[in-house]
Amino acid sequence: MKNNFCLALVAAAVSVALSAQAADVTDKMLVTASTNTHEVLSSGMGSEGQRFSPLKAVNTSTVSRLVPAWTMSFGGEKQRGQESQPLVHNGKMFVTASYSRIYAIDVKTGTKLWKYEERLPEGIMPCCDVVNRGAALYGNLVIFGTLDAHLIALDQDTGKVVWNDKIDDYKAGYSFSGAPLIADGLLLTGVSGGEFGVVGRVEARDPMTGKMVWVRPTVEGHMGYTFDKDGNKTENGMTGTLNASWPGELWKTGGASTWLGGTFDPKTGLAYFGTGNPAPWNSHLRPGDNLYSCSTLAIDPKTGKIVWHYQNTPNDGWDFDGVNEFVTFDMNGQRVGGKADRNGFFYVNDAKTGKLINAFPFVRKITWAKGIDLKTGRPIYVDESRPGDPEKSADKKKGSVVFSTPSFLGGKNQMPMAYNPGTGYFYVPANEWGMEIWNEPISYKKGAAYLGAGFTIKTLNDDYIGALRAIDPKSGKIVWEDKNTAPLWGGVLTTGGGLVFYGTPEGYLKAVDAKTGKELWKYQTGSGIVAPPITWEDGGNQYVAVVSGWGGAVPLWGGDVAKKVNMLEQGGSVWVFKLAGK
Ligand code: CA
Repeated sequence: MKNNFCLALVAAAVSVALSAQAADVTDKMLVTASTNTHEVLSSGMGSEGQRFSPLKAVNTSTVSRLVPAWTMSFGGEKQRGQESQPLVHNGKMFVTASYSRIYAIDVKTGTKLWKYEERLPEGIMPCCDVVNRGAALYGNLVIFGTLDAHLIALDQDTGKVVWNDKIDDYKAGYSFSGAPLIADGLLLTGVSGGEFGVVGRVEARDPMTGKMVWVRPTVEGHMGYTFDKDGNKTENGMTGTLNASWPGELWKTGGASTWLGGTFDPKTGLAYFGTGNPAPWNSHLRPGDNLYSCSTLAIDPKTGKIVWHYQNTPNDGWDFDGVNEFVTFDMNGQRVGGKADRNGFFYVNDAKTGKLINAFPFVRKITWAKGIDLKTGRPIYVDESRPGDPEKSADKKKGSVVFSTPSFLGGKNQMPMAYNPGTGYFYVPANEWGMEIWNEPISYKKGAAYLGAGFTIKTLNDDYIGALRAIDPKSGKIVWEDKNTAPLWGGVLTTGGGLVFYGTPEGYLKAVDAKTGKELWKYQTGSGIVAPPITWEDGGNQYVAVVSGWGGAVPLWGGDVAKKVNMLEQGGSVWVFKLAGK
């Protein structure tokens, strides 16, 4: 009798504990997020970043019946670029918006539950529009980064701030617009600001408290640290070797910002962060490879150390940020990662060692390199395609101008690609454009643009800039493409229903056949789409959602391209779709 009573007490205690935590997002849930069709728990629809859903109710036969279920406006006078991927959990959608705003919405009705808006100071310096790309979920918290370089954790139910931690000084050019990543129970984030001579880094925090656990700089010569519970820091090894690939002092303001955030593969236990341009843009000031700029870094979340690196563009001279997402997948029985780099090449690296397995162009025209040598892993440079040294000009003020493709806006930029294990293809939102670029003298000044370069973006073709491309990572072939007049700037979703969803600046959310690229459905959302779609199922229905709102870097820096997009209207809303009828 006594034993039974004890057992009943234990059972009751377990039951209370379970119900209290039922809504909490756990590490276990995040590790299996890519196969959970009922929720969207992380950016990338799983920390590997494949953006694949096995859902099939919406498929090549039924997609023509897709109709809006609800839409919600972000409201206010603030619009500009909306690059956010929504999250879905516990009956709520969490979505960030421009100007560091976040909303919780009833996922069934579209009713706003709460909203948080960061009071941004005057003088923030986001280089490329006031965007945010999404949040992370952990425990009962939803966590996002702000344009004044803070991380903010809010209670999922109430929207109340639980913790708020400063990343760095926005007056020095720091900001953060990427979606935070949860890896191994830690909150991993990067920094933006490569155009202002910040020093890139990856930071790990306790997601429940915001307390720093480790920091790993991404420029050689800078010291890494671990932190104890009281915030006392201990040296954790220098990044790289001082002056090995950076001469003199320039590494102290060396860029390599980690502005897009990272991915995490539970199978390798490694987090992958891409790094941006070395600063300044004028490459003649910093001869050498300039590690670890324009690279993929594999970091062990347990130690905060770089396990391997692969540099896509050594001694970058074109602002070819290598921040693009490293998406892990299985190929020929091997765990590998794919990356469509801003420099126009698609790379496949071993996910455990970084060894280069394949590299090929995913855009039609590349001027800066003839190819990538698979033996050495290095680009075969075209020397005359590097903008000239101003020191060699008559007045030492402007180096020779070169025409370069891709432009610095990239063969691909922030918009995430998707991988479908059914077709074996990556779906890459690519752009064809070039630039005139030249170098100028420059010296570092805190809070000022640190480029030493000038540029004008140019179109290459009359009929299109954007092209959604299905790419075979084994053969390196472009299997099909779907061209678009304006540059593509939104992400991609692919599904077990044989579909690829993506948005256009012209305002359409489109569904095309994953095997052939044939357009099967489109819907006009009222403003340009520069964000990635998601899908989930609830109550027997499959839903598809995307944020609409034109903006981002193109209208700011587009040069001649602006003529193709300056008629597009701003906006800010979430759209949710489901199948009409039975
Ligand atoms: Ca850059």
